Amino acid sequence: MQQITILGSTGSIGVSTLDVLARHPDRYTVYALSAHQRVEELAQQCLRHAPKVAVVGTAEAARALEALLRAQGLQTQVEYGEAALCAVASASECDTVMAAIVGAAGLAPTLAAARAGKKVLLANKEALVMSGPLLMQALEESGAMLMPIDSEHNAIFQCMPSGHARMPDHCGIEKILLTASGGPFLYRAVETLEQVTPAEAVAHPNWSMGRKISVDSATMMNKGLEVIEAHWLFNLPAERIEVVIHPQSVIHSMVSYIDGSMLAQLGNPDMRTPIAHALAYPERIASGVAGIDLATIGKLVFERPDLVRFPCLKLAYDALNAGGSAPAILNAANEIAVQAFLDGRIGFRMIDRLIARVMDAQPGSAITDIDAVFEQDRRARELALSFIEP
Ligand code: NAD
Ligand code: MG
Repeated sequence: MQQITILGSTGSIGVSTLDVLARHPDRYTVYALSAHQRVEELAQQCLRHAPKVAVVGTAEAARALEALLRAQGLQTQVEYGEAALCAVASASECDTVMAAIVGAAGLAPTLAAARAGKKVLLANKEALVMSGPLLMQALEESGAMLMPIDSEHNAIFQCMPSGHARMPDHCGIEKILLTASGGPFLYRAVETLEQVTPAEAVAHPNWSMGRKISVDSATMMNKGLEVIEAHWLFNLPAERIEVVIHPQSVIHSMVSYIDGSMLAQLGNPDMRTPIAHALAYPERIASGVAGIDLATIGKLVFERPDLVRFPCLKLAYDALNAGGSAPAILNAANEIAVQAFLDGRIGFRMIDRLIARVMDAQPGSAITDIDAVFEQDRRARELALSFIEP
């Protein structure tokens, strides 16, 4: 029986993870769940999945959750704050950690899970973008296993010979191809992008996801973060990581080999497939996702990405090529810009302009430890905010 901690259980990935776990009560039990603010949803999840521990963001939220749980006769231990997230991610009772908090807030608990040698299911791409070398080193030192949850990276993992994820040259990999849907604005007139609303930006054509990653998909910063994520996961330089637009989201990514072969993973756009794959690997378990019908799909469409329409994709390649703390700065500026856009404080096209401005103003440096990453993250956020409200 595997005991699972889900960091960010009330989010889109968290809910999909619980759905898969509930299909296999003979294999998995829930050790801990966490939510930032949505206390009532977390209470419902505790009633259904009976975790030992539940973690929320603040003391006030903890009191509210405790009252809800005790009223139902549940004795779940209630904790709050980052230290408690790190504790449930590294607890000896827990075997596997689903890292599904959105943004930089997920870094410390993900790192704690890696250091403690847990099997880490990584959805929180921002953690790897911010601290790629440190997180990969922590995993190596502890012997922890990392399984990619991001559908593209999970697809690539599936298209590689098992056990070779970080040895591309040993198994003849030429390059990897990340597919991108292009989001809701793929064909919208570029000059009208300034006017798009948050509601339009979060309405992804194929995937149902949290708000932040949905905006990232609309700007294609999501694909940029995924290029950086792929660089660390699969040990490949930027020039061997290509992005291809595939609006149907049937192929989730591909690997091209030196003998001319190209392998792809196909499926419906439903995160329960990569979640089930990563949970049970190397076995396969039911995920609740139906298979695809190729004749109904008919044909698959591909295009090259347009960097004028999607400047965020270029900014991410620039950050990866600059190295050091540049990806952490890119990520921090993006988090501030996306939140400001969702709050109606800046327009859609200001997102890429703001990130470019922060990257110009804050040259990156080598990252030697995690405190340096958090310091660069903090400075980039301050800069971005100062550009929004001078
Ligand atoms: P979401 O917004 O739906 O959920 C985020 C979760 O994180 C919630 O449980 C929330 O309570 C928690 N959270 C938010 N801020 C927090 C904070 N400051 N401290 C602690 N917890 C906090 O997001 P999501 O769509 O589930 O995405 C989660 C992560 O997975 C992101 O990094 C995203 O890029 C990645 N991801 C998501 C998808 C998807 O289909 N949703 C696909 C690939 C990767
Ligand atoms: Mg993805």
